[in-house]
Amino acid sequence: MWRAVRFIIIAAVLLVLAWWIGGLPGNVTATSGPYRVETSVPAALLILFVIALLMTVLLRALAGIRRAPGGVVAWRGGRRMRLGEMATQRGLVALAAGDVAAARSEAARARKLLGDTPLVLLLTAETARLAGMADQAQEAFRLLAQHKEMGFLGHHGLLRHSLAVQDHEAAHDHVLAAERAYPGSNWLQEQKKELAVRRQDWGSALTLTRNPAEIAAFAVAAARASGTPQHALAYAKKAVKAAPGLAPAVVAYAAALRQVGKPGAAKKALIAGWKVAPHPLIAAAYLEPLATPLERAQAAAELAAARPGHTESELVLGETALEARLTGEARRHAEAALATHGDDGRATDILARLEGKPVHSICASSWVCEACQTRCADWAPACAHCQRPGTLVWRAKDAATAPA
Ligand SMILES: [Zn+2]
Repeated sequence: MWRAVRFIIIAAVLLVLAWWIGGLPGNVTATSGPYRVETSVPAALLILFVIALLMTVLLRALAGIRRAPGGVVAWRGGRRMRLGEMATQRGLVALAAGDVAAARSEAARARKLLGDTPLVLLLTAETARLAGMADQAQEAFRLLAQHKEMGFLGHHGLLRHSLAVQDHEAAHDHVLAAERAYPGSNWLQEQKKELAVRRQDWGSALTLTRNPAEIAAFAVAAARASGTPQHALAYAKKAVKAAPGLAPAVVAYAAALRQVGKPGAAKKALIAGWKVAPHPLIAAAYLEPLATPLERAQAAAELAAARPGHTESELVLGETALEARLTGEARRHAEAALATHGDDGRATDILARLEGKPVHSICASSWVCEACQTRCADWAPACAHCQRPGTLVWRAKDAATAPA
């Protein structure tokens, strides 16, 4: 709107000016030697205006030519940089979108235009990683690691790679370098923990977590791997303190107590664990030192008294009664276990054996990774599938496999 108004005003002023000049009276006469030019005032003004315009254009052109060489280089350099930046940006977007081919071509273009700038190196490395070209990724990350400001990202990539290929020594070096480049990062703390787990360095792993489930998992593993009974006892105690309901922790603690010659304390620890969470591993550890079936049946009664009526209590009573040929007791406890609706096939199994029927034991209970839901027969400090530590929990009876 304003533009139009301004245009109209300027046009009107020019028109008025032209009309006024056109109407100026008189003549202009120029004399040079024998030459004599005579013209009207408006024509003379027009000629003057054209001469001034030509002079201005000529001076501008001369100044431009003088500055030319540097100007052209700067212009071309700026253009190169702009194109390189554009390629980098496009490459990063393609990378995020998972378009490997586009990311690769933009990365190559950016590298050609800009050279090995940190961003180009990062783009090149991540693109190569996505394309599965580990060597090329490694090379770019190595170059990036030498950069003062962005070195951390180089070590980040190198560490991730060495963890993936299980090169624990290299991973350790990159952890130290990354720590120097960017001290105290949470990400690095997690990587250190992962590395400690992979190296089965449970003592270090313990110093890197505050999560009770992880503390318990690492402490049980440390107790199991421990060279001396005293150390094993200290670790196992720590594990039980962190997770009183974790059966492997309770069992490790009892085993360590037995090792240092405290069988009474071991029994107490197992009963305490049973109280929190009855588990077949605790029952097995409780009955382990006893030789005769009758002793075992009596011990089972002691243990079961800590959680009367629990499915596991009824099952351990039923199992030991069956072993001791106390068939009436065995049937009663197996039926009681069934009545709790928590049986995973073991109570049915006892009843089948009592009647001499073929046994097809289907135990629905197992350790399950809370993170990836993978089932494992045995407990481990880290999930064998997703490698996350402290994620295995006991699922007494899985909802998916339970009869409706
Ligand atoms: Zn898992």
